[in-house]
Amino acid sequence: MPAASNLGFPRIGRKRELKKALESYWSGACGVSELEAVGAELRKANWRLQRDAGIDHIPSNDFSFYDHVLDTCAMVGAVPDRYAWKASCVDLDTYFAMARGIQDESTGRDVIAMEMTKWFDTNYHYIVPEFAADQKFTLASTKAIDEFNEAKGIGVQTRPVLLGPLSFLMLGKTKDPAVEPLDLLDHLVGVYEEVLTRLGESGAEWVQMDEPCLVLDLDAKQLSAYQQAYTRLRSAAGDLKILLATYFGDLGESLDTTAALPVDGLHVDLIRSPDQLDALLQRLPQHMVLSAGVVDGRNVWVNDLARSLAVLERIQSSVGPDRLIVAPSCSMIHVPIDLGLETQLDTEVHDWLAFAEQKLDEIVGLTRAMREGRDAVSDLLTESRRRIDSRRRSSKVHRQDVKDRAAGIRPGDASRASPFSQRRLLQKQKLGLPRFPTTTIGSFPQTPQMRTNRAALRNGKITREQYERFLEAEIAETIRFQEEIGLDVLVHGEPERNDMVQYFGEQLTGFAFTQQAWVQSYGSRYVRPPIIYGDVSRPQPMTVRWATYAASLTDKPIKAMLTGPITMLQWSFVRDDQSRRDTARQIALAVRDEVGDLEAAGIGVIQIDEPAIREGLPLRRHDWPAYLEWAVECFRIASSCVRDDTQIHTHMCYAEFNDIVEAIAALDADVISIESSRSQMELLDAFESYDYPNEIGPGVYDIHSPRIPSAEEMRELLSRATRYLSADQVWVNPDCGLKTRCWEEIRPALRNMVQAAQAMRAELAEVR
Ligand code: GLN
Ligand code: ZN
Repeated sequence: MPAASNLGFPRIGRKRELKKALESYWSGACGVSELEAVGAELRKANWRLQRDAGIDHIPSNDFSFYDHVLDTCAMVGAVPDRYAWKASCVDLDTYFAMARGIQDESTGRDVIAMEMTKWFDTNYHYIVPEFAADQKFTLASTKAIDEFNEAKGIGVQTRPVLLGPLSFLMLGKTKDPAVEPLDLLDHLVGVYEEVLTRLGESGAEWVQMDEPCLVLDLDAKQLSAYQQAYTRLRSAAGDLKILLATYFGDLGESLDTTAALPVDGLHVDLIRSPDQLDALLQRLPQHMVLSAGVVDGRNVWVNDLARSLAVLERIQSSVGPDRLIVAPSCSMIHVPIDLGLETQLDTEVHDWLAFAEQKLDEIVGLTRAMREGRDAVSDLLTESRRRIDSRRRSSKVHRQDVKDRAAGIRPGDASRASPFSQRRLLQKQKLGLPRFPTTTIGSFPQTPQMRTNRAALRNGKITREQYERFLEAEIAETIRFQEEIGLDVLVHGEPERNDMVQYFGEQLTGFAFTQQAWVQSYGSRYVRPPIIYGDVSRPQPMTVRWATYAASLTDKPIKAMLTGPITMLQWSFVRDDQSRRDTARQIALAVRDEVGDLEAAGIGVIQIDEPAIREGLPLRRHDWPAYLEWAVECFRIASSCVRDDTQIHTHMCYAEFNDIVEAIAALDADVISIESSRSQMELLDAFESYDYPNEIGPGVYDIHSPRIPSAEEMRELLSRATRYLSADQVWVNPDCGLKTRCWEEIRPALRNMVQAAQAMRAELAEVR
């Protein structure tokens, strides 16, 4: 009979219990046993919930106090030397030290955290495994086995989840370039063998080995490593069956190797990559079970049950009922827990959504239909049809004027009237800026008073009038400070913004915001992504009031701040009824409207932030050009409606732009500011071989640290920049917005930054 399964359930708790427990443990307010107790409660609740929902294959070891990749580091004892770990088991404090670093004033111990990066193309961040050249592995955490036994203790048979050894290694880094992570495989597999043996002895029937790296571009060496490792694991596993889980893409070229692996089941993502099914059904060996990911684990829309059933029926007619598992496309940690907690969502939009708990019901319903026939779930099917139809037809989703406008975009709409060389002269004349012009990225410190005032406005404790007076005072203060220290292009400081996407989304049509729909971003940091459900338009100006107010206070140029279309897309749950490109183009037009209004209101410099442009890159290289083409086009649609003498800026952060530098140039922003101070201007390497045409401000002040850089060190970074770029091209600015810093830090730091620019100007004057 087909089985209902899940690949992973959100670990944070319906009421963010995990966050509260972690933060209270870290602050010393609670002890380890209290923290452990909260973890145990959450696991128990999740197992019971899934069992009661009717899930047959319930995951365990999907819980984590911080991150499942870090858990795997602990499992195999991959603890970098700097944590001075000597015990045989990785204790919780070592684990958290790896995640967060340690700064202990009383002992003087100061150890940095491990690196963190994005988990494939999601907004979840994992801890990057760090290997020594002579790395040895040992079983140093029995969490997977303990949690299996813990579930068994309350009568729930689970399927433990392990991050597979190949993906674990490939997601990691070695410190020594002579050794590649894969060279460590042989030794690593020994630990996995031990874990599988022990899981088998504990009574596990299945283990889920996550190998998402199988959807990346792999070379022959990597593929043969899979063969090697799984052959060994197969024999260690004995009667324990191995489900190899892939997700976020298609197996592509790796299909043949994967189908030949000695495993008992294969999970594939049929939401992201439905087209891989045909080839898969042809290649799937007789003994293998197919776990079909037909319920979207990455997005929040109600499942089209009839459509999923059609897929499942096709699979079943090919492999038979006993070899079919119904599953979400990937772990559900990427979606919020329970739609039932949303009491303030528009009822129509609410009707179109399914969060993790609702998705469990969908999986179970689909499984029932496969076992008993469609008639057994006719109510569910009718309900699903009704919701899908309601969404398909809703006037909240579909706005003919928006569609027509997007369809009518002409190539000319995506380019400026004149080339940069001409615009540059006109902008110079109009703005009258010195060499090495100084500016900031937009936000100034978000003070507690700002949050208090926003909350007071929301709760009706102050009037809008009072709130606006408060913002004006903040803006005035920020402008005064910038004038005083001699910055050249000023900003209003963004005191009115809660978040760079939410602030705009709340003023656009087609966006919904939730109350409790948290998803883990990293560790105890959770976010509530907006839901883009409908055609996007901008009913009225969003930022003009604050930009013009700021401009009224100074004679210096004011730079207005907007969030770009790709960043709004990337950091939201997006529509699945049209392409990402189409949604992005609509947002681009909305931003374009704002750009036009800002210019008409006399603002001569406008920045459109696109920090997320790089993280939108597809997982496979051959998909990069198409993505970059539409992403760049969207930015240009948003920014190209202005006169030649209006200066367009953009900003990007989160390093490693070197491989997309040509796309960055293609944005044709007059000025780009870009993160680089942390990597000591590593970014500049890209400009050795590539002549970046427009102006650029490589960040010289690392705002992610409380440190105050000296004028001299920033001048040094600027001189380094002038070795790669012409002195006429270089702007002087911090790495990113200042919102997370406090005034005591940024006052001296920005003063020093202005001094560094002055020193560069003086140097240049001497040379002449
Ligand atoms: N303008 C935004 C700010 O200054 C940019 C933030 C970002 O790049 N993430 O905060
Ligand atoms: Zn930034």
